[in-house]
Amino acid sequence: MTHPATATVLAPHEPRGEGARLTVDLNAVAHNVRLLRRRTAAELMAVVKADGFGHGAVDVARTAIAAGAGWLGVTSVDEAAALRDAGLRVPVLSWLNPVDADFDTAVRRCVDLAVPSRDHLDAIARADGLARVHLHLDTGMARDGAEPGAWLELCRRAYAAEREGRIRVVGVMGHLACAETPGHPANAAGRRLFEWGVAAARDAGLRPAVRHLAASAAALTEPRAHFDLVRVGAALVGIDPTGTTALRTALTLAAPVVAVRRVAAGTPVGYGHAWHAPAATTLGLVPVGYGDGLPRHAWARAEVQVRGRRRRIAGRISMDQLVVDLGDDPVRPGETATVFGPGGGGEPTLQDWAGWADTIAHELVTGLGPRLRRHVLPADNRDPHGSLT
Ligand SMILES: *Cc1c(COP(=O)(O)O)cnc(C)c1O
Repeated sequence: MTHPATATVLAPHEPRGEGARLTVDLNAVAHNVRLLRRRTAAELMAVVKADGFGHGAVDVARTAIAAGAGWLGVTSVDEAAALRDAGLRVPVLSWLNPVDADFDTAVRRCVDLAVPSRDHLDAIARADGLARVHLHLDTGMARDGAEPGAWLELCRRAYAAEREGRIRVVGVMGHLACAETPGHPANAAGRRLFEWGVAAARDAGLRPAVRHLAASAAALTEPRAHFDLVRVGAALVGIDPTGTTALRTALTLAAPVVAVRRVAAGTPVGYGHAWHAPAATTLGLVPVGYGDGLPRHAWARAEVQVRGRRRRIAGRISMDQLVVDLGDDPVRPGETATVFGPGGGGEPTLQDWAGWADTIAHELVTGLGPRLRRHVLPADNRDPHGSLT
């Protein structure tokens, strides 16, 4: 922080001077990693795809490793290479690549690759050097991963490539479609299919040491899905898809009120005049909008916090700004509007925004715009549980 020594001491998420500020509190990530580690005997992969769910991939990765994560996971080889560029040395898995991706770079930079098809296997086996791979079985999403009907052939081919010294099969992975609903029958079915896939790989002569099926939801609620490694993304940043666990969210979005005005009853506000003041009121202008990632269609239900109270948004959210209905409170320009935060001070949370926008918090955090000024609070390494290194 760069306040002059004479400045009033503000909470770290108070915006100063400029516009909206996004504060990323890495202590929350460290806390969540420690909580997850206490819940599983498996190793923990910190999934930092999509720029660490919008929190900063390298910051989240470093924090998670310091708090006990042993692996990193991303989708593309590019994302994995960026982690290596930042000096991170733990195993990194990249699981979603076109068949003509730069697998030479992946192998050179010691990035593990998921193999969802025979074409991928062949391309990866042609890369320079010995590729470490994880065979990916579709365990019931019809999305990524090999269809069960193609699995035995994939395992046989992988065994042949391993014998030729082209690849080493390190792991087998799957992914559950309905894990956010504990007890959903698709979870047990996916788990059985996964166990079948591992057994088939072993029958084909492979010795995958790292079996991994669970993401955040199953890591939090289904120990039978943990196997050797859990791949956790959302829960790192405090998003619990199952709604069962008290995780800490890391983000606070705040912006100054840049102007206030008194308006008469009936005054139309914003584009399309979608909202009219029901009574004489004070409106506050806040410089954050859908260009920063706030979902435009949430306006009719959404709130922000000013002076300790929730305030409704007045009219449509614009690209760069929104207007809040401050009622009769004498709010002055320069006071802070908290758009969302951890919630402990009564401010809206990401979950609130997700509900107002009919989406999930994952979509909100990954849609935050690059224009937001970011302020990162490093995790302090004073861990009461002694699990930090
Ligand atoms: C995104 C992703 C994860 C992490 O999912 P969360 O629910 O965010 O923990 C794990 N595995 C795969 C294959 C993914 O795409």
